[in-house]
Amino acid sequence: MQRILTRGEIETLDRTSIVRLILAAPNTFSVRAQRLRDLSTDNPIEDYLLLIGELADAQQQVFEQDWFLPALDDTQLAQAQAHGMPPFSASGVKRDAAWRAMLSAILERLFNASLPDAVRKNLSKLLDDTKNSPELLEQAADALLNQDLEKIDAARAPFIMAALQVYWSQLVAGLDSKKIPAHTPFGLCPCCGSQPVSCTVLLGGPKEQIRYATCSLCSSQWHIVRVVCTHCEDTKQVAYHTLEAGKVGIKAESCDACQQYRKIFYLDKEQFAEAFADDLASLPLDILMGEAQFYRANNNPYLWQLAE
Ligand SMILES: [Zn+2]
Ligand SMILES: [Zn+2]
Repeated sequence: MQRILTRGEIETLDRTSIVRLILAAPNTFSVRAQRLRDLSTDNPIEDYLLLIGELADAQQQVFEQDWFLPALDDTQLAQAQAHGMPPFSASGVKRDAAWRAMLSAILERLFNASLPDAVRKNLSKLLDDTKNSPELLEQAADALLNQDLEKIDAARAPFIMAALQVYWSQLVAGLDSKKIPAHTPFGLCPCCGSQPVSCTVLLGGPKEQIRYATCSLCSSQWHIVRVVCTHCEDTKQVAYHTLEAGKVGIKAESCDACQQYRKIFYLDKEQFAEAFADDLASLPLDILMGEAQFYRANNNPYLWQLAE
């Protein structure tokens, strides 16, 4: 365990005019798919990374289709502003049935890939439920978005989350970032109120060496000052961990105040790091953190570990 820079040193790096929010790029899922494939070689979970790569490709194709989703009117946006609440709150906004059509479309594309028999069987049943048991899927979506772990089916969760990601990314894509409330609850996405999957220290221009959290649901990135626990906002008990044989641009940021950790990627050391793919591909670091008695602040949406 090693401490890198003091908080004072980091604050002198901070800028006065930091870009607060970066919405997901139009090719966000295909970039993720490519990174998953690149990271799969010799990875302990190689086959799983390849499967999720296929899933991300399917997400990209569905994301590019024309969907007509309910937009927010000016009154709703003004209300969000007034209360400092994310306008597309995942737990508050009523979901349109389009998200289930997105799930069907993702699954149908996935069936073109070569899938292990057990996965194919699981997905056939899921596709069947999108047609015949929509209420089951709505319950599953509620459980996932509310992190109601007891009600989550880990085998289905990544695929249902994949559809919810496409849905929320589409909703948020049309948002004027100036209409996002100036202050929203700490540690949660200002667009949809979900938790970050991981953090990235960016490169280039005004974003040089600035830390952004990536939303686990809508893939928006928002600024969080460095050396602050992204879970409990503590500044004094934050530390950094790496695998001995690991890449130096991939660390776990832990907090002794809340015993949680999240991964942080440094693009100056790991140029192509992607918030979801690199988090998933660095599972050995999660094992190390578990052994050190730290808990993941939240699951990667593509991998649900529910048991202790
Ligand atoms: Zn979000
Ligand atoms: Zn903390």
